[in-house]
Amino acid sequence: MLGLSSRVKAISPSATLAIDTRVKEMIQKGEDVINLSVGEPDTPTPLRASYRAIEGIVNGFTKYTNSSGIVELRKRLARKLAEENGLEYDPEQIVVSVGGKHSLYNAFMAICNPGDEVVLPAPYWVSYIEQIKLADAVPVVVPTDESTGFKLTPEKLASAITPRTKALVLNSPSNPTGAAYTREELQALACVVAERDMYVVSDEIYEKLLYTGEHVSIAALGPALKERTLVVNGFSKAFGMTGWRLGYMAGPKDVMKAVADFQSHVTSNVTSIAQLAALGALDDYDPAQREMFRERLEYVYGRVAAMKHVRCVKPQGAFYVFPNVGDCFGKTFRGAVICDADHLCELILEHCRVGVVAGTGFGAPRNIRISYAVRLERLREAMDRLERFFAEIE
Ligand code: PMP
Ligand code: GLU
Repeated sequence: MLGLSSRVKAISPSATLAIDTRVKEMIQKGEDVINLSVGEPDTPTPLRASYRAIEGIVNGFTKYTNSSGIVELRKRLARKLAEENGLEYDPEQIVVSVGGKHSLYNAFMAICNPGDEVVLPAPYWVSYIEQIKLADAVPVVVPTDESTGFKLTPEKLASAITPRTKALVLNSPSNPTGAAYTREELQALACVVAERDMYVVSDEIYEKLLYTGEHVSIAALGPALKERTLVVNGFSKAFGMTGWRLGYMAGPKDVMKAVADFQSHVTSNVTSIAQLAALGALDDYDPAQREMFRERLEYVYGRVAAMKHVRCVKPQGAFYVFPNVGDCFGKTFRGAVICDADHLCELILEHCRVGVVAGTGFGAPRNIRISYAVRLERLREAMDRLERFFAEIE
């Protein structure tokens, strides 16, 4: 019988990639649209990364590699995790994958059985919920809001846990809210996790883009947490290498062995020369980037927080602001009654030529996400347009 699997029928397309594609098409047609939708840094690939990759092509490093990643890279990542995150792993406990997104998918596929529950604090990044469903598990969404700075509390976590709980997803700093957990806050969550047989999938892809305090990995809070945590990271955000598709995961030996076996049947290795680029990038990190993003955050947050009908918590990391625009619902813009965040984003795109994403796909239907991974000059123009737009709503 023809037809699609119930698995794929249950998923929605990535809201972030969908709007990005649409906005890029408009720009290609010559329209003056400012793209604040996708989370893609405008920073270039570090030169050392490009040179290592070019060298690899010229020298014929263009064949299959170890499916989990070349040993040199996994050793280098082990050093990075030890030096920067206080986490000791053997290279066999690290698997290099086709982006952080792929590492996360591997994680859910490796640990979830049908019907297992995965605790997912909302707002969440759009792909977690779909990946959990693809692994036949059940996302247990725990709402958080502006009142706790969009952070999960130990009480909320404890009340979401059931005998079927397999894992908790943590993302600090967070996409879309920019919230980042302090060591004390993580410690409090860790106490709840350590009492149970459950994993933590800790997505730390924005660790380098933190503007207050220091990044702490929950896995570094003691052996009980380390043996329960899968640490996910990648090169897209810290090194601006979105198109190279490079991510990695580190975790307990048995899980990582399963991930390695799984990946060996699904994708095999990450592109050989991208792995060389990763080696080059790791030795060429530019900390000035954080300061550039901090300047943009201060500017964009200041402007957005002052806009009419908008409430905004100040983000601590990543490159998004996530204002609450719920007050606009039911009001009108040039005669059109604004129904919800999706409609509002449509109106913003149509009338201001600014691409932003509705919070709906992030489990936050009263918010919109504005990415500030764009140069300041364009951000100024975008903020002027948005300010005029919100001022017209009545
Ligand atoms: N996690 C989060 C929170 C993200 O925002 C992204 C951005 N795409 C990813 C993972 C995956 O990024 P990539 O697959 O490009 O490494
Ligand atoms: N993570 C980025 C975002 O949220 C890139 C797009 C995606 O992979 O979803 O916009």
